[in-house]
Amino acid sequence: MVNNQPPVSEDLYPLSLERFHKVADRLDLDPGIREKLAVVKREVTVNFPVKMDDGQFKVFTGFRVQHDIARGPAKGGIRYHPSVCLEEVRALAMLMTWKCAVVNIPFGGAKGGVKCDPKAMSEGEIERLTRRYTSEIIMLIGPETDIPAPDMYTDSKIMGWIMDTYSMQKGFSVPGVVTGKPLSIGGSLGRSGATGRGCVNCISLGGEHLGIDLEGRTVSVQGFGKVGAVAARLLDEMGCKIIAASDSKGGIFSQKGIDVADLLRHKGESGSVVGFHDTDNISSTDVLEIPCDILIPAALENQIWEGNADKIQAKIIAEGANGPTTPKADDILSDKGIFVIPDILANAGGVIVSYFEWVQNIQEYFWPEKRINSELQRILSDSFWKVLEISKKEKMSMKMAAYSLAVDRVVQATKDRGIYP
Ligand code: NAD
Repeated sequence: MVNNQPPVSEDLYPLSLERFHKVADRLDLDPGIREKLAVVKREVTVNFPVKMDDGQFKVFTGFRVQHDIARGPAKGGIRYHPSVCLEEVRALAMLMTWKCAVVNIPFGGAKGGVKCDPKAMSEGEIERLTRRYTSEIIMLIGPETDIPAPDMYTDSKIMGWIMDTYSMQKGFSVPGVVTGKPLSIGGSLGRSGATGRGCVNCISLGGEHLGIDLEGRTVSVQGFGKVGAVAARLLDEMGCKIIAASDSKGGIFSQKGIDVADLLRHKGESGSVVGFHDTDNISSTDVLEIPCDILIPAALENQIWEGNADKIQAKIIAEGANGPTTPKADDILSDKGIFVIPDILANAGGVIVSYFEWVQNIQEYFWPEKRINSELQRILSDSFWKVLEISKKEKMSMKMAAYSLAVDRVVQATKDRGIYP
């Protein structure tokens, strides 16, 4: 990593290890357990051909990584993006281990990804890529072993194809192999908006802790996708003022506030937030740096780093994205007194409702949305106050507290199981 350049996706794994070792030092971890948790348990790289619409074959590279399964089956999303690489997937798998542990759901951590540009592919090409990638990693996934879900540029339709491909190989329907799938094949109510909703739940808890009334507070959202757009819509409904938003094409700003419902329509029609009426164009980095009360980074990792952390002016940061802040930037934000709700808590709503979906699939009994949302709120609230308590007691940031709690739980499970044979 070059110090005066923002980190890239390959840097996420060394940066994640840096944070892990910091936590391991604080917990004074047994050296053997530290060594075990600093590496991933299994990783598979697959290179596979896909027939493109022009009749030519193109070879794609995909990954599935399981970091740790001491607490239960591996769980984690699948990402389609040009910057996907093994280091990124390893880091995101490790992050999933900590995320499931901090909210105390019985899963280990995994992640998958295919290096591709889904925006330049037709639906048929994406379907063929998905089905072939699923076949290539089929020895790893399953409802009792490793359960994928959506992540960047993957959605419920893609999860449906994964479920169908897996089920065709088995000869019977296996809805529990994947979460975030369509309702018609065993998806859960509330799953599509769960990550954004969970992020907003955490912001409300943060406001309660800080004594800040959210009504009229200004919000800036980097990444107006499945996480960022839902969080923006819910905050708008709660009376916050969304003043900036961005996506891969750029950002928009309006001090008067943006009509989120209209922006969703505009993005749906035009494919971007850019060009929305009565807003000024700004860059995606500006979206992070403009003065606002609440900042939600909900795009890619490593967006807040030592080169820009000092310029951030928000009071609360809720990390909708996975790994949006580097460890050095964590320290800068902490020194500035910004209240950061860490990724493994702020975006855990998705995996919590994925857990509910998996439970519903196993029980073949489906819950009403009210129950989903209230149990999501309960789990996040318990986790938030527990992390805050550790943060106060140990005089550490919310991020260090969340990671300490998570690592401690994984260590306990590892010790309770013992090392085989
Ligand atoms: P998505 O594909 O639905 O949306 C991503 C958004 O980010 C898009 O609007 C895209 O245009 C935008 N984007 C891409 N590059 C950008 C850039 N450089 N600057 C600004 N915007 C950019 O993906 P998502 O599911 O919303 O995931 C977003 C983040 O949240 C990722 O870090 C993901 O790992 C994390 N996350 C997602 C879930 C989930 O349930 N979907 C759960 C937990 C964490």
